[in-house]
Amino acid sequence: MEKRIAIMGGTFDPIHHGHLITAEAVREAMDIGTMVFIPAAVPPHKLDREVTPAEHRLRMTELATASNPHFRVSDIELRRQGPSYTIDTIRALQKQYPEDTTFYFIIGADAINELTTWHEVDTLITMCHFIAATRQGTSFDAEGLYARFGERGRAHIHRALTPHIEISSTDIRSRVREGRSIRYLVPQVVREYIEKEGLYR
Ligand code: ATP
Ligand code: MG
Repeated sequence: MEKRIAIMGGTFDPIHHGHLITAEAVREAMDIGTMVFIPAAVPPHKLDREVTPAEHRLRMTELATASNPHFRVSDIELRRQGPSYTIDTIRALQKQYPEDTTFYFIIGADAINELTTWHEVDTLITMCHFIAATRQGTSFDAEGLYARFGERGRAHIHRALTPHIEISSTDIRSRVREGRSIRYLVPQVVREYIEKEGLYR
């Protein structure tokens, strides 16, 4: 049975090669067998903006990850009502996996700098490890986080040196809206899905 499970959470609106390259780099570096991509149904930090219906984001995530035998997709957050809090997801996963499973949550450097605002973060940080992936233009304030979370932060927040891939979903959405190319920014299957469904126009 696997003892290490890594989670890549996000809005994935849409999923892109920045997500995929980061996930694969961390998976390999940390010798993690399974990386579970979990699209957020209602991202708590994006309540002020329009997000594409979750079924589309889930489908694109499935298409993008299908060719990697280490990647899985979970619809666990789509089956809950209200904001998709990571702590609720980890609690549910703890019930599904053996007791000695360690959970790793992969997070971009931009997102980890906001970790202090996450729901029940002081409990959450005792339940999983955070792997901060570096991202172009964003530095990871390790000392600030360690100061805020104390010993627990030092033990549960880690840095992963991942390639800097300057791709964001925001840029992809505006490219589609402006009729510009998104080729090579997202997997071809995702590009075809966006075209077929007429997303982001
Ligand atoms: P948006 O522009 O809509 O915010 P995004 O590209 O940041 O989208 P998200 O779904 O918000 O994508 O990100 C999910 C997770 O992936 C976050 O932890 C984020 O920091 C990380 N991430 C996003 N893009 C990259 C990238 N290019 N390299 C590394 N990590 C990334
Ligand atoms: Mg983002």
